[in-house]
Amino acid sequence: MIVGNWKCNMRLDTAFRLTDDICQRLGEVEGIDVVLCPPFVYLATVESVITMSNIRLGAQDVHWEDDVAATGEVGPRQLEELCDYVIIGHSERRHALGETDDAVNRKVKAALAANLQPIMCVGETLEEREAGQMETILVGQIHGGLDGVEIPDGFVIAYEPVWAIGTGRAATADDAEGAIAIVRREVSGMFGAAKAETARVLYGGSVTPDNIAQFLDRETIDGGLVGGASLKVDVFCGIVEEALRLRA
Ligand code: PEP
Repeated sequence: MIVGNWKCNMRLDTAFRLTDDICQRLGEVEGIDVVLCPPFVYLATVESVITMSNIRLGAQDVHWEDDVAATGEVGPRQLEELCDYVIIGHSERRHALGETDDAVNRKVKAALAANLQPIMCVGETLEEREAGQMETILVGQIHGGLDGVEIPDGFVIAYEPVWAIGTGRAATADDAEGAIAIVRREVSGMFGAAKAETARVLYGGSVTPDNIAQFLDRETIDGGLVGGASLKVDVFCGIVEEALRLRA
């Protein structure tokens, strides 16, 4: 699975053109879920372009309620009309906007109830890693985010070390694999080994066409969540094509 997170980038014309270019090159992709996550305001445009392709649509956040007085928010049933996926708990929301595990938990539950597939993000900061707290942070985020949730088969979690996001300093495959082992162990403890086996765990943080293979070569890493590199057609398609090559 390769997910492009456009964050707060693009204008209407560039969003349309990038989607169209990606569809021309990857529209018939098979064997890998390719998901584009544009800003809310471009979801409908992107959806209209990908409609005849195998590319899927995701949002970057969701509110936990529908039809309420929550100015500026977008509810799960509204998103469900357009999207298959939604990113929840991205570190930029956790750290810049104070999103808590409790909010992540409510969003995950609401998304699943609306038939959206959450892409739940977890990851430690550099200070936390250097203080030897990586495992504690991941365990807390997994339990906090998934408490009381019945996860479906194929549930998606993205391990994104905060220090690797947008820095050009990707984790090593060993670091990613070590953290992802903790994620899987906790999911297994909460939901059983069989369910954990079906979970899809992605790595995110400065992924490029040149480094994606080192992550996908590891059996426990099921894909990538891609930020900056998803904004350029050649770079994003290069990542997906590399993933396709490794699957072949
Ligand atoms: C992200 O936004 O989730 C991300 C991983 O960003 P980047 O690929 O730019 O590090």
